[in-house]
Amino acid sequence: MSARVLIVDDLPQNVKLLEAKLTNEYYDVAAAYSGSQALAKVKGFSPDIVLLDVMMPDMDGFETCRRLKADPETAYIPVVMITALSDVADRVKGLEAGADDFITKPINDLHLFARVKSLVRLKLITDELRLRDQTGSQLGIIDQPFITADFNYKANILVVDDDIVESRLVVERLSLLGHKVAVCNPKKTMESVAKTAYDLIIVSAQLDEMDGLRLCSQIRNSEASRQIPLLILVEGDDRDLLVKGFEMGINDYLATPLDQNELVARVRSQIRRKAYQDALKANYQKSLSLAVVDSLTRLYNRRYLDAHLKNIVEQAVEKGKDLSLMTIDIDHFKQVNDAPGFGHHIGDEVLQQVAERILNSIRSTDLATRPGGEEFVVVMPGTMLKSAAEIAERIRFAMASVPFKISAGDGQLKCTVSIGLACLKVGDSADALMKRSDEALYKAKNEGRNRVVNL
Ligand code: GH3
Ligand code: MG
Ligand code: MG
Repeated sequence: MSARVLIVDDLPQNVKLLEAKLTNEYYDVAAAYSGSQALAKVKGFSPDIVLLDVMMPDMDGFETCRRLKADPETAYIPVVMITALSDVADRVKGLEAGADDFITKPINDLHLFARVKSLVRLKLITDELRLRDQTGSQLGIIDQPFITADFNYKANILVVDDDIVESRLVVERLSLLGHKVAVCNPKKTMESVAKTAYDLIIVSAQLDEMDGLRLCSQIRNSEASRQIPLLILVEGDDRDLLVKGFEMGINDYLATPLDQNELVARVRSQIRRKAYQDALKANYQKSLSLAVVDSLTRLYNRRYLDAHLKNIVEQAVEKGKDLSLMTIDIDHFKQVNDAPGFGHHIGDEVLQQVAERILNSIRSTDLATRPGGEEFVVVMPGTMLKSAAEIAERIRFAMASVPFKISAGDGQLKCTVSIGLACLKVGDSADALMKRSDEALYKAKNEGRNRVVNL
């Protein structure tokens, strides 16, 4: 992930320290040494996140944050305030200024990376949504420039915590914000999740009667709750537990004893992410009714791909972002249509399931399309070759490992795909990128099919 981080601090030694930590994790880092420098730098550097010191001469962190959030061009960039550990009043002020999160000094690496990762993920989704809206307006689909996600919606939140004092605190604080908060017995969680469409689930990692992390894993693996943001409460700073939690797919965590302002900030970020994801879905629903979705597979069609890819490539070039693209082609698909007793409609059944399996293997910010025939293109913004290759392999395997269900012959059919993969290089246009993934596909076919080749 080559996310861009802007560090704002008046003390050069603080900047150096943070810079070293983040560069080590492959972030792209820039620095500003005052509030006004930060405001200027944000425009040229277009960071994915701003780490903002509170105490600075002339313009302090609060004022800088307020100005960033007041400008529509920069309001979308997540801001993390760096405050002194003891200073609760600072956090309240930060929240009021529109900060998205806090880190306390001295900076703990695990906190830092968790905050940065969680907010960068959120930014990726908001960027993609804005871009799709732009494509939508260009195609004349969407009248207003943006489908704005509703930040202030009242969320449906589930709290799973058998510590009565702690859960009461969470419920009371979040109810004050107008959210609808339910508490459930840990053992009834999956039942409750299946019944109610929650916007956020908060789970204590230290439950008495069961393993909190195991419960998180169940939540992640269940169809009904796979996409719901998941926040865990962790006693103190249990590093091993947190690492495990993140691997399992939790979205964020809060250390206990709880800081109420952190609670508010973390919950707000997760709820925003959900709002954006829902807005992405709404955007798709709008597209459905127009001529940009293929009626057989419900994926976007060539018209949409051409318009959107051009915008994605332009933005990636402008902001120095990664971008990968794959072309997926079904192997020997002619034989499916032409097999005795089969026919075109059997081929169509397979095409639909191929589309489903593709959708199940990608993320909400990836774009799945069927530009034509038995060929599919997946565009993956913010993704470098290594992760793109993993996704491609996941897709290849999803096809090859399970036969397709068909209404002819013995009811099932084995089918594989070949995948050509390319990532954006300096000087690439959308056409050049497509062409390279086509060439990679051609190579995959020649080398024996049922494989991924990248160029
Ligand atoms: P290869 O492994 O080289 O890709 O072989 P192939 O047979 O898949 O490739 P070819 O390009 O020769 O044939 C593609 C076939 O896909 C031909 C066409 O009948 C079929 N096809 C294209 N669009 C559709 C469709 O919408 N529905 C069905 N059922 N078949 C389609
Ligand atoms: Mg073909
Ligand atoms: Mg084919």
